[in-house]
Amino acid sequence: MNYPEWIWQNGEVKQWADATTHVMSHALHYGSSVFEGIRAYDTPKGPAIFRLTDHNKRLHDSAKIYDFEIPYSIEELNAACKEMVKRNGLKDAYLRPVAYRGLGGFGLSADTPIDVAVATWEMGAYLGPDVLENGIDACVSSWQRFAPNTIPAGAKAGGNYLSGQLIAREARRLGFGEGIALASTGLLSEGAGENLFLVFNGALHTTPVSAALLNGLTRNTIMTLARDMGIEVVERDMPREYLYLCDELFMCGTAAEITPIRSVDGRKIGKGVAGELTRKLQQAYFDLVKGKTEDKYGWLELV
Ligand code: PMP
Repeated sequence: MNYPEWIWQNGEVKQWADATTHVMSHALHYGSSVFEGIRAYDTPKGPAIFRLTDHNKRLHDSAKIYDFEIPYSIEELNAACKEMVKRNGLKDAYLRPVAYRGLGGFGLSADTPIDVAVATWEMGAYLGPDVLENGIDACVSSWQRFAPNTIPAGAKAGGNYLSGQLIAREARRLGFGEGIALASTGLLSEGAGENLFLVFNGALHTTPVSAALLNGLTRNTIMTLARDMGIEVVERDMPREYLYLCDELFMCGTAAEITPIRSVDGRKIGKGVAGELTRKLQQAYFDLVKGKTEDKYGWLELV
Protein backbone atom coordinates (compact mmCIF):
# COMPACT_ATOMS: atom_id res chain seq x y z
CA MET A 1 0.00 0.00 0.00
CA ASN A 2 1.19 3.50 -0.85
CA TYR A 3 0.59 5.67 2.17
CA PRO A 4 -0.52 9.24 1.63
CA GLU A 5 1.49 12.04 3.18
CA TRP A 6 -0.93 13.58 5.67
CA ILE A 7 -3.18 12.36 8.44
CA TRP A 8 -5.36 14.26 10.91
CA GLN A 9 -4.92 13.38 14.57
CA ASN A 10 -6.57 15.10 17.53
CA GLY A 11 -6.98 18.38 15.68
CA GLU A 12 -3.53 18.48 14.08
CA VAL A 13 -2.38 17.58 10.59
CA LYS A 14 0.64 15.29 10.82
CA GLN A 15 2.91 13.30 8.54
CA TRP A 16 1.55 9.74 8.15
CA ALA A 17 4.55 8.25 10.01
CA ASP A 18 4.06 10.57 12.99
CA ALA A 19 0.42 9.63 13.63
CA THR A 20 1.20 7.13 16.38
CA THR A 21 -0.55 6.02 19.56
CA HIS A 22 0.57 4.38 22.81
CA VAL A 23 0.68 0.56 22.94
CA MET A 24 -1.27 0.69 26.20
CA SER A 25 -4.20 2.53 24.62
CA HIS A 26 -7.45 1.01 25.90
CA ALA A 27 -8.78 0.36 22.38
CA LEU A 28 -5.83 -1.81 21.40
CA HIS A 29 -6.62 -4.20 24.25
CA TYR A 30 -10.39 -4.12 24.40
CA GLY A 31 -11.65 -3.13 20.95
CA SER A 32 -13.03 0.17 22.29
CA SER A 33 -12.93 2.16 19.08
CA VAL A 34 -15.61 3.37 16.71
CA PHE A 35 -14.94 4.18 13.10
CA GLU A 36 -16.38 4.96 9.69
CA GLY A 37 -15.60 3.98 6.13
CA ILE A 38 -16.48 6.72 3.65
CA ARG A 39 -15.76 7.24 -0.02
CA ALA A 40 -14.99 10.35 -2.02
CA TYR A 41 -15.56 10.28 -5.77
CA ASP A 42 -14.29 12.51 -8.53
CA THR A 43 -17.31 14.43 -9.87
CA PRO A 44 -17.62 17.10 -12.59
CA LYS A 45 -17.59 19.68 -9.75
CA GLY A 46 -14.47 18.20 -8.16
CA PRO A 47 -14.00 15.53 -5.48
CA ALA A 48 -17.13 15.01 -3.36
CA ILE A 49 -17.55 12.88 -0.24
CA PHE A 50 -20.65 10.72 -0.40
CA ARG A 51 -22.99 11.07 2.61
CA LEU A 52 -20.20 12.53 4.73
CA THR A 53 -22.52 14.02 7.35
CA ASP A 54 -24.52 10.79 7.65
CA HIS A 55 -21.30 8.83 8.21
CA ASN A 56 -19.99 11.20 10.87
CA LYS A 57 -23.42 11.19 12.52
CA ARG A 58 -23.21 7.38 12.67
CA LEU A 59 -19.72 7.73 14.19
CA HIS A 60 -21.20 9.86 16.98
CA ASP A 61 -24.05 7.36 17.40
CA SER A 62 -21.60 4.45 17.69
CA ALA A 63 -19.72 6.34 20.44
CA LYS A 64 -22.99 7.04 22.25
CA ILE A 65 -23.78 3.32 22.30
CA TYR A 66 -20.40 2.71 23.98
CA ASP A 67 -21.00 5.60 26.39
CA PHE A 68 -18.30 7.98 25.29
CA GLU A 69 -18.30 11.36 23.68
CA ILE A 70 -16.21 12.26 20.65
CA PRO A 71 -14.46 15.58 21.45
CA TYR A 72 -15.17 16.90 17.92
CA SER A 73 -18.55 17.80 16.50
CA ILE A 74 -19.93 16.28 13.29
CA GLU A 75 -19.11 19.59 11.53
CA GLU A 76 -15.52 19.51 12.80
CA LEU A 77 -15.12 15.91 11.64
CA ASN A 78 -16.60 16.81 8.25
CA ALA A 79 -14.05 19.62 7.91
CA ALA A 80 -11.18 17.29 8.87
CA CYS A 81 -12.34 14.73 6.27
CA LYS A 82 -12.50 17.36 3.54
CA GLU A 83 -9.13 18.77 4.50
CA MET A 84 -7.47 15.35 4.32
CA VAL A 85 -8.80 14.63 0.82
CA LYS A 86 -7.56 18.04 -0.29
CA ARG A 87 -4.16 17.93 1.42
CA ASN A 88 -3.40 14.48 0.07
CA GLY A 89 -4.42 15.54 -3.44
CA LEU A 90 -6.95 12.70 -3.71
CA LYS A 91 -9.95 12.41 -6.01
CA ASP A 92 -11.29 8.88 -5.61
CA ALA A 93 -10.54 8.11 -1.99
CA TYR A 94 -11.52 6.08 1.03
CA LEU A 95 -11.78 7.94 4.32
CA ARG A 96 -11.40 6.45 7.76
CA PRO A 97 -12.36 8.54 10.77
CA VAL A 98 -11.69 6.64 14.00
CA ALA A 99 -12.32 7.59 17.64
CA TYR A 100 -10.98 5.42 20.41
CA ARG A 101 -10.29 5.06 24.08
CA GLY A 102 -6.67 6.08 24.48
CA LEU A 103 -4.15 5.92 27.29
CA GLY A 104 -5.59 6.55 30.74
CA GLY A 105 -6.64 3.43 32.58
CA PHE A 106 -6.67 -0.31 32.19
CA GLY A 107 -10.01 -1.17 33.77
CA LEU A 108 -12.78 -2.11 31.38
CA SER A 109 -14.90 0.81 32.55
CA ALA A 110 -12.02 3.32 32.61
CA ASP A 111 -12.91 6.81 31.45
CA THR A 112 -9.88 7.34 29.26
CA PRO A 113 -9.28 10.30 26.95
CA ILE A 114 -10.84 9.82 23.51
CA ASP A 115 -8.38 10.08 20.63
CA VAL A 116 -9.56 10.83 17.12
CA ALA A 117 -7.92 10.47 13.73
CA VAL A 118 -8.94 10.84 10.10
CA ALA A 119 -6.98 8.96 7.44
CA THR A 120 -7.58 8.98 3.69
CA TRP A 121 -6.11 6.92 0.90
CA GLU A 122 -6.76 5.96 -2.67
CA MET A 123 -8.83 2.82 -3.04
CA GLY A 124 -10.25 0.83 -5.95
CA ALA A 125 -12.82 -1.99 -5.72
CA TYR A 126 -12.64 -3.48 -2.21
CA LEU A 127 -13.17 -7.13 -3.09
CA GLY A 128 -10.63 -7.12 -5.92
CA PRO A 129 -10.33 -5.92 -9.53
CA ASP A 130 -13.16 -6.86 -11.95
CA VAL A 131 -15.56 -7.92 -9.19
CA LEU A 132 -18.01 -5.11 -9.88
CA GLU A 133 -18.34 -6.49 -13.40
CA ASN A 134 -17.98 -10.22 -12.90
CA GLY A 135 -19.19 -10.75 -9.35
CA ILE A 136 -17.80 -13.02 -6.65
CA ASP A 137 -18.32 -16.55 -5.41
CA ALA A 138 -19.50 -16.42 -1.80
CA CYS A 139 -20.03 -18.98 0.94
CA VAL A 140 -22.09 -19.13 4.10
CA SER A 141 -19.74 -18.85 7.03
CA SER A 142 -19.46 -21.37 9.82
CA TRP A 143 -19.28 -18.31 12.10
CA GLN A 144 -22.57 -16.73 13.12
CA ARG A 145 -23.07 -13.04 13.87
CA PHE A 146 -23.32 -12.06 17.53
CA ALA A 147 -26.78 -12.07 19.11
CA PRO A 148 -28.39 -8.60 19.48
CA ASN A 149 -28.25 -8.85 23.29
CA THR A 150 -24.49 -9.52 23.30
CA ILE A 151 -22.78 -6.93 21.08
CA PRO A 152 -24.83 -4.20 19.38
CA ALA A 153 -24.46 -4.62 15.62
CA GLY A 154 -25.79 -1.09 15.11
CA ALA A 155 -22.53 0.38 16.41
CA LYS A 156 -19.65 0.43 13.97
CA ALA A 157 -17.15 -0.47 16.66
CA GLY A 158 -13.67 -1.95 16.33
CA GLY A 159 -14.52 -4.99 18.46
CA ASN A 160 -17.35 -6.01 16.10
CA TYR A 161 -14.79 -6.64 13.42
CA LEU A 162 -13.43 -9.68 15.22
CA SER A 163 -16.59 -11.33 13.88
CA GLY A 164 -15.99 -9.85 10.43
CA GLN A 165 -12.39 -11.06 10.40
CA LEU A 166 -13.38 -14.63 11.23
CA ILE A 167 -16.00 -14.63 8.47
CA ALA A 168 -13.80 -12.97 5.83
CA ARG A 169 -10.65 -15.00 6.61
CA GLU A 170 -12.51 -18.31 6.58
CA ALA A 171 -14.06 -17.43 3.20
CA ARG A 172 -10.68 -16.47 1.68
CA ARG A 173 -9.00 -19.59 3.10
CA LEU A 174 -11.65 -21.72 1.39
CA GLY A 175 -11.15 -19.84 -1.89
CA PHE A 176 -14.30 -17.69 -1.80
CA GLY A 177 -14.51 -13.95 -2.47
CA GLU A 178 -16.52 -13.22 0.67
CA GLY A 179 -18.41 -14.90 3.50
CA ILE A 180 -22.08 -14.43 4.42
CA ALA A 181 -23.12 -14.91 8.03
CA LEU A 182 -26.30 -16.18 9.61
CA ALA A 183 -27.72 -14.39 12.64
CA SER A 184 -28.02 -16.14 16.01
CA THR A 185 -31.61 -16.95 14.95
CA GLY A 186 -30.20 -19.07 12.13
CA LEU A 187 -31.65 -16.67 9.55
CA LEU A 188 -29.66 -14.59 7.08
CA SER A 189 -27.70 -11.65 8.46
CA GLU A 190 -25.05 -9.98 6.25
CA GLY A 191 -21.58 -10.29 4.76
CA ALA A 192 -18.36 -9.79 6.71
CA GLY A 193 -18.47 -6.09 5.89
CA GLU A 194 -21.44 -5.73 3.55
CA ASN A 195 -25.22 -5.80 3.57
CA LEU A 196 -27.16 -8.22 1.38
CA PHE A 197 -29.85 -7.85 -1.27
CA LEU A 198 -31.74 -10.70 -2.92
CA VAL A 199 -33.95 -10.26 -5.98
CA PHE A 200 -37.15 -12.28 -6.40
CA ASN A 201 -39.50 -11.56 -9.32
CA GLY A 202 -38.11 -8.07 -9.87
CA ALA A 203 -38.44 -7.04 -6.20
CA LEU A 204 -35.53 -6.29 -3.86
CA HIS A 205 -35.40 -8.13 -0.56
CA THR A 206 -32.96 -7.22 2.18
CA THR A 207 -32.41 -8.55 5.68
CA PRO A 208 -33.81 -6.46 8.56
CA VAL A 209 -31.73 -4.61 11.15
CA SER A 210 -32.97 -7.09 13.76
CA ALA A 211 -30.75 -9.70 12.03
CA ALA A 212 -27.61 -8.39 13.79
CA LEU A 213 -26.42 -6.22 10.94
CA LEU A 214 -25.00 -2.77 10.49
CA ASN A 215 -27.66 -0.46 9.10
CA GLY A 216 -25.54 0.42 6.11
CA LEU A 217 -25.71 3.75 4.38
CA THR A 218 -25.20 2.06 1.01
CA ARG A 219 -28.14 -0.22 1.87
CA ASN A 220 -30.19 2.89 2.59
CA THR A 221 -29.02 4.57 -0.63
CA ILE A 222 -29.95 1.51 -2.70
CA MET A 223 -33.36 1.21 -1.06
CA THR A 224 -34.00 4.90 -1.78
CA LEU A 225 -32.80 4.69 -5.40
CA ALA A 226 -34.81 1.53 -6.00
CA ARG A 227 -38.02 3.03 -4.62
CA ASP A 228 -37.45 6.14 -6.75
CA MET A 229 -37.15 3.80 -9.76
CA GLY A 230 -40.47 2.20 -8.87
CA ILE A 231 -38.90 -1.05 -7.68
CA GLU A 232 -40.53 -2.81 -4.74
CA VAL A 233 -38.25 -3.04 -1.68
CA VAL A 234 -38.93 -5.48 1.14
CA GLU A 235 -37.05 -5.79 4.46
CA ARG A 236 -37.59 -9.21 5.95
CA ASP A 237 -36.11 -12.25 7.61
CA MET A 238 -35.01 -14.91 5.14
CA PRO A 239 -33.64 -18.43 5.55
CA ARG A 240 -30.28 -19.53 4.16
CA GLU A 241 -31.74 -21.44 1.23
CA TYR A 242 -33.19 -18.22 -0.22
CA LEU A 243 -29.61 -17.37 -1.17
CA TYR A 244 -29.62 -20.36 -3.51
CA LEU A 245 -33.12 -19.73 -4.89
CA CYS A 246 -33.13 -15.99 -5.60
CA ASP A 247 -32.94 -14.64 -9.16
CA GLU A 248 -30.10 -12.22 -8.34
CA LEU A 249 -27.93 -11.53 -5.34
CA PHE A 250 -25.53 -8.75 -4.44
CA MET A 251 -23.62 -7.28 -1.52
CA CYS A 252 -23.24 -3.63 -0.80
CA GLY A 253 -21.22 -1.31 1.35
CA THR A 254 -19.17 1.84 1.07
CA ALA A 255 -16.07 -0.22 0.30
CA ALA A 256 -17.76 -3.05 -1.65
CA GLU A 257 -20.11 -0.60 -3.46
CA ILE A 258 -22.49 -2.94 -5.33
CA THR A 259 -20.79 -6.30 -5.79
CA PRO A 260 -22.75 -8.99 -7.66
CA ILE A 261 -22.63 -12.53 -6.24
CA ARG A 262 -22.59 -15.21 -8.92
CA SER A 263 -22.63 -18.27 -6.66
CA VAL A 264 -23.15 -19.25 -3.02
CA ASP A 265 -21.79 -22.50 -1.61
CA GLY A 266 -21.19 -23.71 -5.16
CA ARG A 267 -24.80 -23.06 -6.29
CA LYS A 268 -25.08 -20.78 -9.30
CA ILE A 269 -27.29 -17.73 -8.71
CA GLY A 270 -29.55 -16.93 -11.64
CA LYS A 271 -27.44 -17.15 -14.80
CA GLY A 272 -24.22 -17.03 -12.82
CA VAL A 273 -23.46 -13.46 -13.91
CA ALA A 274 -24.50 -10.05 -12.59
CA GLY A 275 -28.29 -9.86 -12.96
CA GLU A 276 -30.31 -7.26 -14.81
CA LEU A 277 -31.63 -5.41 -11.76
CA THR A 278 -28.19 -5.54 -10.12
CA ARG A 279 -26.71 -3.86 -13.18
CA LYS A 280 -29.44 -1.24 -13.24
CA LEU A 281 -28.83 -0.38 -9.60
CA GLN A 282 -25.05 -0.33 -10.09
CA GLN A 283 -25.53 2.15 -12.90
CA ALA A 284 -27.85 4.36 -10.84
CA TYR A 285 -25.49 4.18 -7.84
CA PHE A 286 -22.32 5.06 -9.73
CA ASP A 287 -24.08 7.81 -11.70
CA LEU A 288 -25.17 9.31 -8.39
CA VAL A 289 -21.89 9.08 -6.47
CA LYS A 290 -19.90 10.33 -9.46
CA GLY A 291 -22.19 13.34 -9.84
CA LYS A 292 -23.58 12.30 -13.23
CA THR A 293 -27.22 12.44 -12.09
CA GLU A 294 -29.15 14.89 -9.98
CA ASP A 295 -28.18 14.76 -6.31
CA LYS A 296 -31.72 15.30 -5.09
CA TYR A 297 -31.01 14.25 -1.51
CA GLY A 298 -27.91 16.46 -1.13
CA TRP A 299 -25.66 13.45 -0.50
CA LEU A 300 -22.57 14.71 -2.34
CA GLU A 301 -20.48 16.98 -0.13
CA LEU A 302 -17.83 18.78 -2.15
CA VAL A 303 -14.40 19.00 -0.53
N1 PMP B 1 -22.14 -4.34 7.42
C1 PMP B 1 -20.91 -4.30 7.95
C2 PMP B 1 -20.56 -5.29 9.00
C3 PMP B 1 -19.99 -3.34 7.53
O1 PMP B 1 -18.77 -3.30 8.05
C4 PMP B 1 -20.35 -2.44 6.51
C5 PMP B 1 -19.35 -1.44 6.01
N2 PMP B 1 -19.35 -0.27 6.78
C6 PMP B 1 -21.64 -2.51 6.00
C7 PMP B 1 -22.51 -3.48 6.46
C8 PMP B 1 -22.11 -1.53 4.96
O2 PMP B 1 -22.25 -0.27 5.54
P1 PMP B 1 -22.10 1.08 4.71
O3 PMP B 1 -22.96 0.90 3.51
O4 PMP B 1 -22.60 2.14 5.62
O5 PMP B 1 -20.68 1.21 4.36
